[in-house]
Amino acid sequence: MSLIVQKYGGSSVADAESIKRVAKRIVETRKAGNDVVVVVSAMGDTTDDLLDLAGKVTPLPEPRELDMLLSAGERISMALLAMTIKGMGHDARSFTGSQAGMITDARHGAARIVDVTPVRLREALSEGAIAIVAGFQGFNRDTRDITTLGRGGSDTTAVALAAALDADVCEIYTDVDGIFTADPRIVKSATKIDRITSEEMLELAAAGSKVLYIRAVEYARRHGVTLHVRSSFSNAEGTIVYNPEDGAKVEEPIISGVASDLSEAKITVVGVPDIPGKAAHIFTIVAGTGANIDMIVQNVSAANTGLTDISFTLPKSDGTATMQALQAAKGEVGFESLQFDDQIGKLSLVGAGMRTNAGVSARFFSALRDSGINIEMISTSEIRISVVTRADSLSEAVRTVHSAFDLDSDVEAVVYAGTGR
Ligand code: ASP
Ligand code: MG
Repeated sequence: MSLIVQKYGGSSVADAESIKRVAKRIVETRKAGNDVVVVVSAMGDTTDDLLDLAGKVTPLPEPRELDMLLSAGERISMALLAMTIKGMGHDARSFTGSQAGMITDARHGAARIVDVTPVRLREALSEGAIAIVAGFQGFNRDTRDITTLGRGGSDTTAVALAAALDADVCEIYTDVDGIFTADPRIVKSATKIDRITSEEMLELAAAGSKVLYIRAVEYARRHGVTLHVRSSFSNAEGTIVYNPEDGAKVEEPIISGVASDLSEAKITVVGVPDIPGKAAHIFTIVAGTGANIDMIVQNVSAANTGLTDISFTLPKSDGTATMQALQAAKGEVGFESLQFDDQIGKLSLVGAGMRTNAGVSARFFSALRDSGINIEMISTSEIRISVVTRADSLSEAVRTVHSAFDLDSDVEAVVYAGTGR
């Protein structure tokens, strides 16, 4: 008998019909002789709707209360799913994050898992029941308050439970057939990837691929959990995200995919004195706002002015606070002005084979040149090249690069549901 953890995302449980469809799938897994633990997200766009609602009653909702509110989304889907399965004549029990033993630190809205004690889930399983767990939420022992793990946190819940229960596999059900070589909403000819290492998946997730959240992939990598990302709308095999044995040589394609991201903005600090310590000063101020910066570029200082420009990218949502903090330090740092640009897009090419394959960058930049796409910033890791372009040329850039690396498939990728929100 195997133990299977299944996670269903918001679009897979968006309405009553979807919940019934998912329930059937869960019951089939149970009937095949497996122990089943299910993690659910909130129905459809519930979390966004609740956030909008909070924003209408007060400009800055209290973090503790916001977590109470948002955690309600997952409680709705867990209870509905459990009663559906019960109604089908099978035993099922729903559990909140805290009942399931998801112990976190105290950071509301971005809590980290510190311990997983799934005693009640084990009990339910040993009594033959299917355990249904509300994703995305936990409990802090010191404050005795409910926490949430940050957007997309249900993936992390599922992976953490799979690790704690030593599950055979953690299946992540979504509205596409798996991980694709590009976002199928942008590239119709994107190809489904059969197997990918967690290292490459981490780079793709960090570069903006939204199928799996980065923290869930990190957790799976650290705890050796194998993931199977697949559609809840079809029976097709999805993508296996695996951790190669240490030192094992895997012969995989050179390139695994192209990720794109429209969620970042660019700040340029213009006219910074080109002397030691200025970058340190600027980024200390930025760090003080809690913003997560991504790419950084410093221009060569213009010959006789002794001044240089420093640009960096960060999440759009961190833009205002960072601009204010820098503006306040203008005199102290001694720069001339600030520019804010939220019309940028980021494209990343990821592949473990890049390490050993010369010529990847030449092909990449030639493709962008042939399509007349201007590059504003470049950054690389061992297995990734990223560029910043204008936001409105991002989709074309993605398609161009995707074709240049022969990633196109003959069959059209299916997006079964979801608003991509
Ligand atoms: N419902 C939460 C969100 O939309 C958590 C999740 O879906 O994983 O971010
Ligand atoms: Mg969601």
